[in-house]
Amino acid sequence: MKQGARLIGASVQRLHCEGGLVTAETDGPFVIEARTAVLATGYAMPEIDMPKLHRTTSSWALATIPQDPAALWRDQALIWEDSHPYLYMRTTPDGRIIAGGEDDDTVDPAARDAKLAEKIMAIREKVKRLWSRADTRVATAWCGTFGETSDGLPLIGPVPSMPQVYAAYGYGGNGITFSYLATQVIGAMIGGGYRDWFDDFALDRDAPAFVERSSTSEERRQVAFN
Ligand SMILES: Cc1cc2nc3c(=O)[nH]c(=O)nc-3n(C[C@H](O)[C@H](O)[C@H](O)COP(=O)(O)OP(=O)(O)OC[C@H]3O[C@@H](n4cnc5c(N)ncnc54)[C@H](O)[C@@H]3O)c2cc1C
Repeated sequence: MKQGARLIGASVQRLHCEGGLVTAETDGPFVIEARTAVLATGYAMPEIDMPKLHRTTSSWALATIPQDPAALWRDQALIWEDSHPYLYMRTTPDGRIIAGGEDDDTVDPAARDAKLAEKIMAIREKVKRLWSRADTRVATAWCGTFGETSDGLPLIGPVPSMPQVYAAYGYGGNGITFSYLATQVIGAMIGGGYRDWFDDFALDRDAPAFVERSSTSEERRQVAFN
């Protein structure tokens, strides 16, 4: 904003391209026109059909009260249990355990939030089972929704039906890493610094079908292998 950008607090309701311009109509008094637009709206956008390799997922997480340091595991390594649903556990600088997982395809925010108590109970039980010395009293718990892809790579690049519109979606549980990647890749695409490997993130790339959430680890391994 110090360099002249304007921040507009509004929701985009319609998006279209005409005469070399992208137009975003908002729910407020603003209509935004630009030569190029970058969408970073999470997992949905009016007028944009999400590719088949994209789906929405909700995830739940908790943070415990600070633990007795002697009760934490060696080196406080990140623990990732690759079962289905998965479970991850890590620690914070003040000695809490953050644990999360129990993903499912609930997207409606009210329905998702209503599952908080049940999901946190399940995560808490799993933490207890994996690390019985943990004090699993919950200090805070939360949930959210994000987009993921069937091949695990993000969707970064032009929207096939609107080449002046770039999208950055499908980060899965790697939003911290892939969002940075998206800034670099889309910046380079707009600036003319195209690289062949950008195609790996194309919205219209070929990708394997999603494996049912209820499948076993062995079935998922088999699909990945195939
Ligand atoms: C419980 C949980 C734990 C997670 N843990 C991790 C983790 O440990 N590490 C990690 O890397 N990732 C993690 N993730 C994933 C990460 O949060 C997401 O990948 C990331 O937030 C996606 O970022 P985003 O900016 O694309 O979308 P979002 O964070 O969803 O932001 C999208 C923004 O766009 C706005 N928006 C949407 N539609 C419109 C519209 N029409 N007009 C205007 N604005 C709009 C929304 O209001 C929102 O502000 C976790 C997710 C959850 C839910």
